[in-house]
Amino acid sequence: MAKITTFEAGYCTHVACVALRGAGLSVCAFPARTYLIEAGNGRWLWDTGYASHFDDATRKGVFVIYRKITPVYFESSQSIAQQLLSQGILAGDLNGLILSHFHGDHIAGLRDFTKTHYICSGSGWEKTRLLCGFSALKQGFVPALVPDVFESQLTFIEQFEVTDLPEELAPFTRAFILPDSNGEVLLVELPGHASGHIGAFVLTEDGWVLLAADAAWSDKNYKELRGPSRIANIIMADSKAYYRTLNHLHQLDKANVKILLSHEGAL
Ligand SMILES: [Zn+2]
Repeated sequence: MAKITTFEAGYCTHVACVALRGAGLSVCAFPARTYLIEAGNGRWLWDTGYASHFDDATRKGVFVIYRKITPVYFESSQSIAQQLLSQGILAGDLNGLILSHFHGDHIAGLRDFTKTHYICSGSGWEKTRLLCGFSALKQGFVPALVPDVFESQLTFIEQFEVTDLPEELAPFTRAFILPDSNGEVLLVELPGHASGHIGAFVLTEDGWVLLAADAAWSDKNYKELRGPSRIANIIMADSKAYYRTLNHLHQLDKANVKILLSHEGAL
């Protein structure tokens, strides 16, 4: 059975009601989580959280706005590369680094994994790769975070074998099998939040767990079908798809499938 280990690589703050409608104006901390997935004979990292590269890449130009909107609290010892190292895991020990999407708080550590194989949505990357300046900022994408080697070490989930999902994971019906994971890690599209936003069903001892990244920011988003404030629509790739995905999470939660988000906890 697969195992999931949770890490936090820094956090940012913003006003509660941006993440959850009606949650008030208090300023809350949103941890940037990353997950180590061990399945079959392999190990994969799910997102990177923050890293010092985020600070470097948002010091000038339009990207200064990014750090102003979501002030980041991060110390170098909190980078996921450092945290893995302290557990005896080197970047080279990973079978791959899976990116749920391309927002800065999920890819900031890419430059610490330049010898690692990368996995992401091909359709999402196609829509993102050439963005720069203000159009990149609007999509929460900071091009300077992406190392030169990125595309030469990249595999798209669309290239993986497709499988039907078990009925207990309805309304999700189909997924991409992560190679070498023994069929215990199944990647699914969770559209809406950002271009190419994906999740991963992981078969653990406690049953299926969905790593759902930013498909919701709080469990209340999907438990109560209460979305973020309207202002959050500005950064969403497709707000209609977002609410469709949120509804799918709602049904999954009702069926007692565990969901792990990237930033939940504050609300
Ligand atoms: Zn995001």
